[in-house]
Amino acid sequence: MAFVLPALPYPHDALEPHIDTMTLEIHHGKHHNTYVTNLNKALEPYPELQKLTLEQVLADKCAKVPEAARQAVIGNGGGTWNHNLYWVVMGPKCGGEPSGKLAEAVKSTFGGFAGLKEKMIDAGLKRLGSGWSWLAKTKDGKLEVYSTLNHDSPIMEGKTPIFVIDVWEHAYYLKYQNRRGDYLNAIWNVVNWKEVEKRFAQ
Ligand code: MN
Repeated sequence: MAFVLPALPYPHDALEPHIDTMTLEIHHGKHHNTYVTNLNKALEPYPELQKLTLEQVLADKCAKVPEAARQAVIGNGGGTWNHNLYWVVMGPKCGGEPSGKLAEAVKSTFGGFAGLKEKMIDAGLKRLGSGWSWLAKTKDGKLEVYSTLNHDSPIMEGKTPIFVIDVWEHAYYLKYQNRRGDYLNAIWNVVNWKEVEKRFAQ
């Protein structure tokens, strides 16, 4: 098996009350785990692809993946990669605002933290069905916010995501039901800005 489910970097109850324990247990242990399992299944006939990193498999919209497996790899490989990022850009005793160079970029692109927050919440609310709201670093070191559908990942288009919010219903429905906006507002209490800043600096 080429790819493994990374351990959650904190206990399941660590993000309470903003992200509840049962959601984290099911989201990480079942949903994310299923994407990893199905990615491995899709790659089973292709040992040469199993030697690559996940980023290499996903590059150029999975151009290296034979047509027969491509949709499965876009969905499950994207699902795997996106969740890998989602868990590490959250954490206990986090929240607040970005600092340093990232704070400067947020100020120049969005007018400040409130502007960034508004943009990402808006992108998440406008994404019909399932998807992700992203903050990414552009090639010239600036910032952009956009959303993607299902598990489409900016990694497939050579972009550099540094923060993400999962807006699939499975990310919030147990606690917030239909109130996606409440979840999108609450998540800022658990953003691990140190991790986001690290990704921005790379
Ligand atoms: Mn998810």
